[in-house]
Amino acid sequence: MEKLIVASNNKGKIKEIKALLSDVFEVRSLSDENIVCDPDETGKTFEENAVIKAKAVYELTGCATLADDSGLIVDCLGGAPGVYSARYAGEPSDDKKNNNLLLKNMQGEANRTARFESAVVLYKSPSEIISAHGVTEGYILTAESGNGGFGYDPLFFSFDLNKSFGDATADEKNAVSHRARALKELVRKLCL
Ligand code: IMP
Repeated sequence: MEKLIVASNNKGKIKEIKALLSDVFEVRSLSDENIVCDPDETGKTFEENAVIKAKAVYELTGCATLADDSGLIVDCLGGAPGVYSARYAGEPSDDKKNNNLLLKNMQGEANRTARFESAVVLYKSPSEIISAHGVTEGYILTAESGNGGFGYDPLFFSFDLNKSFGDATADEKNAVSHRARALKELVRKLCL
């Protein structure tokens, strides 16, 4: 099986990517490989940031590298937090502070529609870079529900699941999530 390094330090993401790709690749995290790499995410889009992360790890290792860059898009906030989702409430990234700030900024808002988006990039070599995208739709609750998943999951009510991602099992979330959809599209592209 081909080895694939996941260019992320986010344990929640790595767990999901391992669950979704282990049939196809030998998935290794940065910590599995003792790699320290945290490039500045200076891109303006999820895809640009995913390329930055995948390229940085590829250049260190020479191994095929997968990166996901993802975030939450909230309509009434003009698309925020978007590419700043991880550091919405400042750095270092803190899920609890991000969720509290999101609730504060949405106080009194009636239109709470939102979506998660993911761009995944497989960097096989400088001349073979494959990308794919996934989206999942829902709305932002007025209080957290459940403690599954990571990040904004307890605040995101999924239209597909009819419950929050925080209340969903890992398998339920992986059936409909933005990341799962992006990875499925990536695998489809690899099989073509
Ligand atoms: P990244 O690691 O720079 O791509 O940041 C992604 C950030 O977006 C995370 O830290 C979370 O705040 C948020 N995010 C992305 N995907 C998810 C998800 O599946 N559930 C909850 N939050 C997510």
